[in-house]
Amino acid sequence: MRKPIIAGNWKMHNTIEEGIKLVREIKSVADNTDVEVVVCVPFTSLSEIKKELQGTKVKLGAQNMHWEEKGAYTGEISPVMLKEIGVDYVIIGHSERRQYFNETDETVNKKVISALKYGIKPIICVGETLEQREKNIEKDVVSKQIIKALENVSAEDMLNVVIAYEPIWAIGTGKTASSKDANDMISFIRETIRGKYGVDISEEVRIQYGGSVKPHNVTELMNESDIDGALVGGASLKAEDFINIVNF
Ligand code: 13P
Repeated sequence: MRKPIIAGNWKMHNTIEEGIKLVREIKSVADNTDVEVVVCVPFTSLSEIKKELQGTKVKLGAQNMHWEEKGAYTGEISPVMLKEIGVDYVIIGHSERRQYFNETDETVNKKVISALKYGIKPIICVGETLEQREKNIEKDVVSKQIIKALENVSAEDMLNVVIAYEPIWAIGTGKTASSKDANDMISFIRETIRGKYGVDISEEVRIQYGGSVKPHNVTELMNESDIDGALVGGASLKAEDFINIVNF
C-alpha cells in the first residue's frame, strides 16, 4: 500500500513571516492523517520553517538544488547545505525551471543522483506541453524525461524517489487534466518504471499529479488507481485550501 503524499510547492511566494503564519495553520492536520504532508518553501525560509515544524509530522522540501556539494557556482545551493538544515525532499526539474532556467533532462539526472547520495528525496517533475499533447506525443515526451532522470539510479534508491506528473498546460491555468487522463499517464509512468526496476519496486514508487489541484477536484484524482498524491501550487498558499486538499 503506497502512502499518499501531498506536497505544497510555494514557488516564489511567502516571506519568512508569511510562511511561518501559514505553517502554523496547517501543521496540526498532518498529525491527524495518514497522508504524508510536505511543504516546499523558498531557500530563505527553510531554516525558520524547519524550526516551526519541529515535533510535527510535516516534512520540509526545497524547490531546487545544484548537484555539486560545493564550488564556484555563484547563487547556487548545494545538497550539503540543504542536508544541514534538515530538508527531507527537493523538487527537481519543475517545468518552470526547465522553461525559464534551462534545466534539461541531463541536469535533472545529475541533481537526482546527487540528492539521493546526500539522503534527500527527490520529487522529480515530468510533463508535456499542450502542443505535444495535441500532437499525441505526450507519452514519448514523458517516457524520455523519466528514463533520463532515472539513469544510474539504483533499485534501492528508487524507493526514495517520488515522481510528479505535471502537464504544463494544467499548471496555474485552472485547467486540470481529467482524472482519467492523469491516471492514464501515471499508469504509463509506473509501467516505464516496471520495465526498468521490476514489478515490486514499480508498485511502491509514489507518483503524484500536479496542475491546478484544488479542494474540489482532489478527491476524484485521489480515487484513481495509480495517483498517489498531489503537488499543489496556488492552492498550497491558502491554509484552508491546503488543509482541505490534505483531507481529501
Ligand atoms: P498550480 O497548482 O498552481 O497549478 O501549480 C502546480 C505546480 O506547478 C506545482 O508544482
